[in-house]
Amino acid sequence: MGIELKQPDSAHLPHTNGSSGTLPERSSPTGIAVLIVGGGVAGLLAGLECWRQGHERWPDMAKENDRISYEMWISWHKINGDLISGPAPFRPNAQKKDGPEGPNTLQTAKIYRHSRPTMHKMLADQVERVGLTVEYGKHVTQYQEDPDSSKAYVILENNEKIEADLVVAADGIGSKSYSITLGRQVPARPTGFSIYRALLPIDQALVDPVIDEKFPLLENGMSSTQLWMGIESWSNKVGPEVVLQTTATIDGWPDFADRLIKATAKDQIHDFKLMWREPQPCWVSPGGRVVQIGDAAHSFLPSSGNGATQGMEDAVSLAACLRLAGKDNVPWATRVHNKLRFERVSCLQMLGVLNHEMRNRSANADASQTKPIGILGSWIWKHDPEHYAIENYEKALRHLTSGSEFLNTNVPPGHVYQPWTIDEILKAKETGREIVLDGDWD
Ligand SMILES: Cc1cc2nc3c(=O)[nH]c(=O)nc-3n(C[C@H](O)[C@H](O)[C@H](O)COP(=O)(O)OP(=O)(O)OC[C@H]3O[C@@H](n4cnc5c(N)ncnc54)[C@H](O)[C@@H]3O)c2cc1C
Repeated sequence: MGIELKQPDSAHLPHTNGSSGTLPERSSPTGIAVLIVGGGVAGLLAGLECWRQGHERWPDMAKENDRISYEMWISWHKINGDLISGPAPFRPNAQKKDGPEGPNTLQTAKIYRHSRPTMHKMLADQVERVGLTVEYGKHVTQYQEDPDSSKAYVILENNEKIEADLVVAADGIGSKSYSITLGRQVPARPTGFSIYRALLPIDQALVDPVIDEKFPLLENGMSSTQLWMGIESWSNKVGPEVVLQTTATIDGWPDFADRLIKATAKDQIHDFKLMWREPQPCWVSPGGRVVQIGDAAHSFLPSSGNGATQGMEDAVSLAACLRLAGKDNVPWATRVHNKLRFERVSCLQMLGVLNHEMRNRSANADASQTKPIGILGSWIWKHDPEHYAIENYEKALRHLTSGSEFLNTNVPPGHVYQPWTIDEILKAKETGREIVLDGDWD
């Protein structure tokens, strides 16, 4: 559960990105007609990146991103609210190297923390500004392709058929595209965990002096996110009374946390059932004209902190591969993209499971002995998927066409990728066997 109140005012500034500013310089069009199903972050960024594909990135979105995001301070708590550690800035692992601040200095990167609607709006505004056509209210029931005509299709609920050179399935965890990529639907499995999420006006919560006292602004004026570990129980709206029934069953759950829940408006709490799906190595249809990205290709536990990020990396990588391949080689672009991305994503999925375990263990340990952690190594946050696609496209293509050796380098340094399954991990957990990670994950 993540609880954050009292955000600084700068997080609530109005948006301007949709109406003014500078667009990046565009490469000459590839002529590839791309149809994207799904307007989540992966789908929206895929549209923008297919539009751009020049050297310049998104100057205005970078500025807007700085404005709407904020640095996250985080404190870790047990399920009864007891502090384990923090609050402290949430930063990726610092590394000593030569940089602008001198030789062998500590380098860190900023972690951008966003409100989801604000980030989504930034992308949607930019999509509107570059003039991409977005059609709302169309429900895809089927994906098809015809290698002879070099076309892919989606079939809508009303039986309308829409064609393109490439169809990108960015339709999230319940994607209808598995029948064409894997030959069968692969439903996501419940993890047994769930997260209640709600957004409520700060003033509404802080009228209660007890809540006001428990969720103060930091001395530096920043807000702090409290992460409470111990329970984590798609998107079903429930009222405070349902959540209170759950919290009533938790030993030591404090009254002030219930007061915060009661301050939430009726039916405004989302009950997110956390789902997972075995890592699926094949994201591409046999003819290469339908490709999955984002949650449609891979599901993450929130403890990876990477689901949306990897969906966005997919979008950047796919657009770069399409540019490198050109219109005559769309199926190779999708296969190379799949090759470049799967192992990295699968490592990050595994990390979510391990982080989750570590946090649960920390929550049950003595607070004085424990420092809750999550791995956030530089191989995760320093990766540039566009650069990686440009560097590796030809090598990966040769590997796929003639079997020459190719090893991905966007995984933890020194790690040799081994396929894994959720059941194996659950079994290891049951039998108390430690999962040993080879290579440098942190
Ligand atoms: C509790 C929680 C915490 C998380 N925390 C983080 C975090 O800290 N960092 C991070 O990076 N990620 C995080 N994630 C993950 C992140 O939210 C998702 O990975 C990301 O939103 C997926 O984006 P997407 O574009 O792939 O899919 P979605 O956002 O699911 O978008 C799919 C789109 O497809 C549309 N669609 C679905 N079916 C159809 C259809 N049949 N026809 C037409 N359209 C369709 C939907 O309406 C939707 O617009 C978290 C997730 C949860 C649940």
